[in-house]
Amino acid sequence: MTNPARSPFTGRWGAATDKGAVRRHNEDSLLASPPLFLVADGMGGHDAGDIASAMVVASFAQFVEHATVTEDEVRQAVAHARQSITEYFEPSGLSGGSTLTGIGVSSVDGEAAVVVVNIGDSRTYRLSEGVLEQLSKDHSTVQELIDSGAIEASEARTHPQRNVITRAISPTADSEPDVWSVPARVGDRYLACSDGLTGELTDAEIREVLLAQSDPQAAAADLVARALAARGRDNITAVVVDVVHLTRGDDADVLWQRLDASVVADPSDASLEDTIPTRP
Ligand code: MN
Repeated sequence: MTNPARSPFTGRWGAATDKGAVRRHNEDSLLASPPLFLVADGMGGHDAGDIASAMVVASFAQFVEHATVTEDEVRQAVAHARQSITEYFEPSGLSGGSTLTGIGVSSVDGEAAVVVVNIGDSRTYRLSEGVLEQLSKDHSTVQELIDSGAIEASEARTHPQRNVITRAISPTADSEPDVWSVPARVGDRYLACSDGLTGELTDAEIREVLLAQSDPQAAAADLVARALAARGRDNITAVVVDVVHLTRGDDADVLWQRLDASVVADPSDASLEDTIPTRP
């Protein structure tokens, strides 16, 4: 990957995805290529969810190798994705849709920034000075129950309606994305992930891995491996991005660096052999 000219900051990233221990297909898609680091979790089953999430990611491909992406460009790409999904699925009568979450390299008033996007219940987190914060807010029935005080946040992961989302990129759902920007700070680490990760690991467990694994590829692979080992009931995807350096004019030789041993955590990896759950 060449360094996008005039990127306001550079970094390192890694990504891992796995279909999990139960599902037959992986309907998650990811894009991890500057300036975009995105996770999309498709819905509708095989030949629907996987296609929908791939269409979402494809709608952002036009920006790859740009220095930055703007909030408007992110909104336009979401609208384009919804249109593509509608045109694809309407004639067939099948229904497919997808969540979307993640970050883009951006700049606001000349300052290095991170644009965050979310629609659905995939999540974007930020680890800053040891504190893990969920930046995105889930668009889900369970989140609405928490907001109204009907249930405690601690009940969310086991609630019977935990998989019901209130927004998605699909022909029939509310497809309005949350899009906003935060300052880029050296040392901050971002995680975009599907609910196959957060359904298996608590925020405390996620934080522990992000702190223990300094290499972003190792962190992404370890997160996916631990979710698999927990139960792996859903497809699992993790993209980890570290802000390494804020660039100033003449820093064009500082590279964005992909750290990939392998993008996919291989479940046949001998080190995972003991912990993969048995198929039901
Ligand atoms: Mn999922």
